[in-house]
Amino acid sequence: MSVRNLRIEFPTRRGTLVAVDDISFDISPGEILGVVGESGAGKSLTGAAIIGLLEPPGRIAQGEILLEGRRIDNLPYEQLRRIRGRQIGAIFQDPLTSLNPLYSISRQLVETIQTHLPLNDREARTRALALLDEVGIPSAGERIDHYPHQFSGGMRQRVVIALALCAEPRLIIADEPTTALDVSIQAQIISLLKGLCHEHGTAVMLVTHDMGVIAEAADRVAVMYSGRIAEIGPVQEVIRTAKHPYTHGLMGSIPLIGHHVKKLTQIDGAMPRLQEIPAGCPFNPRCEKVMDCCRVERPNLQTVQKSRVACHLFDGADGEARAGE
Ligand code: SF4
Repeated sequence: MSVRNLRIEFPTRRGTLVAVDDISFDISPGEILGVVGESGAGKSLTGAAIIGLLEPPGRIAQGEILLEGRRIDNLPYEQLRRIRGRQIGAIFQDPLTSLNPLYSISRQLVETIQTHLPLNDREARTRALALLDEVGIPSAGERIDHYPHQFSGGMRQRVVIALALCAEPRLIIADEPTTALDVSIQAQIISLLKGLCHEHGTAVMLVTHDMGVIAEAADRVAVMYSGRIAEIGPVQEVIRTAKHPYTHGLMGSIPLIGHHVKKLTQIDGAMPRLQEIPAGCPFNPRCEKVMDCCRVERPNLQTVQKSRVACHLFDGADGEARAGE
């Protein structure tokens, strides 16, 4: 999946608000890209735009979204709806938003399977059972005819993952899939998602505000701030040697076992509201390393080691000229 120069706008009476501003990234088959940031950074909107569920008046004002080389952002509603089920699966924070409380799990799975695959009732039920087994529902044969309320939160999220996998999608958008779950269950769901995606070769965009989830699940991570990508790179490199001052602050705010620090880092201030994004680098009012150029020039993403970083500290031919100062 490729996102190219995506810009999402909200026209309002007081002017146009830019919620996502010129972001580009790719996700390869079997790869999990974690997208992290504070609420309002534009991560969920990006996921919604990819899946074609951007709520009006939000609109894609610029850019392209390509799935397996085919542009999908400009397709008519009906075509996109078909692609959404067949090629793109979705997992949201609350499993109950994806499940109909009035229908048994078997009915929901069988209907979804038959919408996308040419299978008769018996074949679809067999596939539904296999999926429930695969996502770790114990005694799937007995539980398949139960209703959503008869499952625990973690089990419901497993059912939602089974639903998302019904048509063997090429891409899954998982938006805060573990936020509503107990911590012990979170780890199980993350490892399930990770295993399934690597096995099926499904690309995953994992949207979360939780760096722990990113560290556990993602292959690469994109850090978003004020609708832009601040840093994107392999997860271990971003965690161990964060380059952008915002990423650095995020990492410093996470307690680590075995690391004795008196006080965790705090990033002073708050992310600007959409109507108040400052000129230049949007992080400049909160940045400890701010320079004059940061207040006027927007930093572009540039390659530093295996990552790409949007920060003037890395301007210059060698990419790290001012970073050590
Ligand atoms: Fe800080 Fe400037 Fe880098 Fe923005 S561009 S993160 S203000 S140093």
